[in-house]
Amino acid sequence: MNQIILVDEIGYLPNDPKRAVYRGENETEFSIISASDGREVYHGVSGREYVTAAADEKNRILNFDAVTEEGEYYIKAGDEVSATFSIKEWVYRDAMGAMLKFFYLQRCGTELSQEHAGIYAHPICHDTDARIYGTDQFIDVKGGWHDAGDFGRYVVPAAVTLADLFLAIELDPGLLKFDFDIPVDNPDLGALLSEIKYEIDWMLKMQNPETGEVYHKVTCSGFCGFFMPEEEKEELVVSPASYAATLDFAAALAMAVKFYEPHDKAYAEILADASKKAFEAGLKMEAKGFHNPEGVVTGEYGDECVEDELYWASAEMYRAFGEERYRTIFDDMAYKHISHGYGWEDVYSFGNIAYILSSYPVDETLKNIIISAIDAKADSLMYLCRSNGYNVSFNERSFIWGSNMYLIQNASHLFTAYYFTKKEEYLEASKEHVHYIFGKNPCNVCFLTGFGSNRVLNPHHRPSAAKGKAMPGMVIGGPDSELQDPTAEKYLQGQPAAKCYVDELLSYSTNEITLYWNSAMILMLAQFVVLP
Ligand SMILES: [Zn+2]
Repeated sequence: MNQIILVDEIGYLPNDPKRAVYRGENETEFSIISASDGREVYHGVSGREYVTAAADEKNRILNFDAVTEEGEYYIKAGDEVSATFSIKEWVYRDAMGAMLKFFYLQRCGTELSQEHAGIYAHPICHDTDARIYGTDQFIDVKGGWHDAGDFGRYVVPAAVTLADLFLAIELDPGLLKFDFDIPVDNPDLGALLSEIKYEIDWMLKMQNPETGEVYHKVTCSGFCGFFMPEEEKEELVVSPASYAATLDFAAALAMAVKFYEPHDKAYAEILADASKKAFEAGLKMEAKGFHNPEGVVTGEYGDECVEDELYWASAEMYRAFGEERYRTIFDDMAYKHISHGYGWEDVYSFGNIAYILSSYPVDETLKNIIISAIDAKADSLMYLCRSNGYNVSFNERSFIWGSNMYLIQNASHLFTAYYFTKKEEYLEASKEHVHYIFGKNPCNVCFLTGFGSNRVLNPHHRPSAAKGKAMPGMVIGGPDSELQDPTAEKYLQGQPAAKCYVDELLSYSTNEITLYWNSAMILMLAQFVVLP
């Protein structure tokens, strides 16, 4: 945990900028050493001093852009050495594969085979019908992916996960042909669309066929122990429909239509109908956040501010179906207020992107106002990037629960701003955030399980705990300076904000995983074009 030289422990593309962080006050010379034969391939001098308040450190950047030859390397400065890393084309291919395979490994309502799931194989789980809360009615909501370290299934985060994955495919269509070692239900769709369909088929069951409203979640009434999913046997409860679930469902399924249409017209029509029906239902619902009904204590995904759900859904409906009235709703809202956000709480950016990329005619003035707003926000993130040695858009107040997700969302924002403005500095900054996740961070940890030299070994994830081995390919929550669980309180008192992370099973506020942290990172990796 105490390395002085911090690198992306997975590696760098040959022609990309390459930066390491040196945690030392004084200027230093450094060498890039070939790991195979000990040869020095580059010699340099550290850059200027940064004061990184969030980590209580002084840093200097080691720039080795000049090293472009493929190979395994480490950095040496005085007696200090870094972790070993690769420089090569498609360097993130295995990481991308593991992150995508994670969705298969989170499958609910089916058996996972030894062949594809290895030690995480298990018999069918959660295969009973679920009680609609407060009634004696039971419905079939089998399927979908377990959301996080627990076995709940929640529509709001699921919709955001799909949004990330669909945008990743738009950015890097090669993902559609990527074989990441899962059983493919429908070979014509390929692995990724086939796996996404597994989640969509579950979401379709979460829509009330009469009203079009969408149930918020299906979980047991509380969290279970650290065992495999088939051992959770308590009654499943479907929580009431919510405004956010209904409109997020409409948005995500509208996005899905164009990906399935070329393969299966009938299925695409089912998606379009379900999406439109949910949107109409959402318009009639009261715009308010969800609260756990009495007796249910699983993840709430509450979200008090739900204006952005209608913003996103109307933009996505317009992009998918081209009906004027969807655009009218969006235009009215956007002229009043433009904001940004790529998380389950805040989905404005998905709306912005859908509107700008729409192939149906849009209000060009409004489109330019949105792009300017994206640019202005990216500019403010750049100010933060320039203020610390890690070159990420965080300060000491940024390290809250799920900080890695917020950091990746900032990367998404910077990348989106680059995409629409072509300002190279945004692209470079976005990539530094990816390097942060993969090890160039004050915690000196590669926050993707199964990768890097300094690995996460004890994630807050039930199958990993049950099998005594971290499932690979999971993005970890990361530092949280508010110390929001007893384990964090025990180990992290007095630590600087950026180092409030502990690799302990019970530290759910720093060491959990979720579907939408993975999908956010997949979207950000897609900017590198990870596949040949
Ligand atoms: Zn299950």
